[in-house]
Amino acid sequence: MAQHGAAAAAAPRSRGLKFCPESNDLLYPRENRNTRRLEFFCKNCSHVEEAEPDDYCVHVARIKHDSKEQTVILQDVRADPTLPRTKDVECPDCHHREAVFFSQSSETGMVLYFNCCACGHRWREDV
Ligand SMILES: [Zn+2]
Ligand SMILES: [Zn+2]
Repeated sequence: MAQHGAAAAAAPRSRGLKFCPESNDLLYPRENRNTRRLEFFCKNCSHVEEAEPDDYCVHVARIKHDSKEQTVILQDVRADPTLPRTKDVECPDCHHREAVFFSQSSETGMVLYFNCCACGHRWREDV
């Protein structure tokens, strides 16, 4: 499926990710304990920069999003007889055309979670 390596290197830098101007490495967020403000630091050189107000929102939103997604995505719901099934979707992994699904509301609207009946692959779609 997805080709790692060349494709990954050419991928556009997504919003919220910061890169070191010195060594071009990904910058990691941390809280500065003295100023109690968010800053980004490079693991490969000594570069540190203070976060812009915009970075706070992106950073916080990403953490929220990740934790919510993990709680849902961890469970295999194929054996749950109370959940509806659909044949209108195709598993992005094995192309099987039947999946168990359920919906959850999120900050941005509704999210549908699918669980492939064949291989157990789980994915989500925003609606
Ligand atoms: Zn660096
Ligand atoms: Zn599948």
